[in-house]
Amino acid sequence: MNTPASRSTHWADVAADRIIRERGDKDLYVCASGITPSGTVHIGNFREIISVELVVRALRDRGRNVRFIYSWDDYDVFRKVPANMPRQDELVAYLRKPITMVPDVVGDAGSYAARNEKELEKLLPEVGVKPEFIYQAERYRRSEYAEGIRRAMDARELIREQLNEHRSTPLPDDWWPASVFCTSCDRDTTVVTGRDGGWGLRYRCGSCGNEETVDLRETGAVKLPWRIDWPMRWKQEGVDFEPAGKDHHSEGGSFDTARRTSAEVYDHVPPVTFQYDFIRIKGRGGKISSSSGEVVSLADVLEIYQPEVVRYLFAGTRPNTEFAISFDLDVLKIYEDYDKCERDYFSEPATEKARKKREKQARIYELSQVDAVPDRIPYQIQIRHLCNLLQIQDGDMDAVIASLGDVRPDQEARLRRRGACAWNWLNDFAPEDFRFRLRSPADEPLQLDAGLTPAVRKLRDLCAAELGNLPEKDFGNRVYDVMKEEGLESAVFFPAVYRILVGKEKGPRLVGFLHAIGRDRVTALLDRY
Ligand SMILES: [Zn+2]
Repeated sequence: MNTPASRSTHWADVAADRIIRERGDKDLYVCASGITPSGTVHIGNFREIISVELVVRALRDRGRNVRFIYSWDDYDVFRKVPANMPRQDELVAYLRKPITMVPDVVGDAGSYAARNEKELEKLLPEVGVKPEFIYQAERYRRSEYAEGIRRAMDARELIREQLNEHRSTPLPDDWWPASVFCTSCDRDTTVVTGRDGGWGLRYRCGSCGNEETVDLRETGAVKLPWRIDWPMRWKQEGVDFEPAGKDHHSEGGSFDTARRTSAEVYDHVPPVTFQYDFIRIKGRGGKISSSSGEVVSLADVLEIYQPEVVRYLFAGTRPNTEFAISFDLDVLKIYEDYDKCERDYFSEPATEKARKKREKQARIYELSQVDAVPDRIPYQIQIRHLCNLLQIQDGDMDAVIASLGDVRPDQEARLRRRGACAWNWLNDFAPEDFRFRLRSPADEPLQLDAGLTPAVRKLRDLCAAELGNLPEKDFGNRVYDVMKEEGLESAVFFPAVYRILVGKEKGPRLVGFLHAIGRDRVTALLDRY
């Protein structure tokens, strides 16, 4: 069944082949990703990490040994108190300090940075992403980058020229490729005043007046600016591949300058890269995420999409294409597309043309799996049908599984996850006319037009005798017979039945709906007219 990865034209496979071609035959390929945790990590950031993960898989499918690193750039400065955070006054005192020193005012994560880090780290394994995390604040504080920082100091003039190449205002004469967190007040409100021998760096703090010389081999106070920090770490970790967002990949953007600095200062051939585009969000209306404010996070997406479908969204779209993650009715279409992809994977194509077409989908399906591809096809249930069943059972997934009657134990976990997502979607985002609550025999009976009563009674008798016994199509014909015998138009009869069942004039397609509700409950609801 498997599609040989080497024959695939999937974008992740193409990238993997390019890495091997350009970096040569190596014992180990280092693939890197990273962002700053100076806010909730949003789904656009997730695109970077999942893009790398997919390429990592493609390399591993080629039998290659890969180190997948994810770098938290958490030695960044706390520049602004986010508007949605509590205890604003307290947080103001931490401005200009590293984000790892800012307290976590909403939980017990240890710091503001750690909170944002842990939120994502907890979720990533759920979508099959398991990198090795690197914490930049730790690295800097342990002076692990001393060598790299010193090289930047030595190459001060060359780096200045590299950066000036893309600047309209040249860097000032007193510019240094370093920023220093004052060891007395922890703020980066400092100016470098010179060097002292090879390893010493002098600075003065504008906040507290502290002046001193630190030794790069011992201090944790000196940090490289982003455009230099990035290539320094490529060298340090031997990075072979790292993609970057559109913003970094613009002309003269940080990737351009990092490429030069990497080659000319750090003597490291810049990694293979590609650009990934932005993610739009569609159909969320005014719903504000409880955890992350206005920002849509991976957690928000996983509320609505099961993990395989989240991966499918990214695996099925080329990284340099902008796309929307939808929370509206498109959710159903996405699930249907995924299910179709799954059926294709587990089917035997009849013709050569079908086989070719299937191969592409099959590779997307493989890459969409959190772990290995299941041995047998997972339980397939149309998402619309599942939504109906859930509403009939008032969200009780045990009852839904029992009513299906044919779910194997090994299929349950995935199905339950889908059920939870569908239920969240119904409650938070589904359009009103998609939602219903089945009436209960304990509810007040409706006032029915007298002309409808005989038809409803006949329908009840038909359901009591045949619902679930006759094939669905035959049962449907009998429902129409009842309607015609009583001389009713469907525009009159159907709304009446829906009102009895769900208190609204419309609902899911009636015959299937009656089957989904089941004979006993249907009869109990029709019985009172
Ligand atoms: Zn200070």
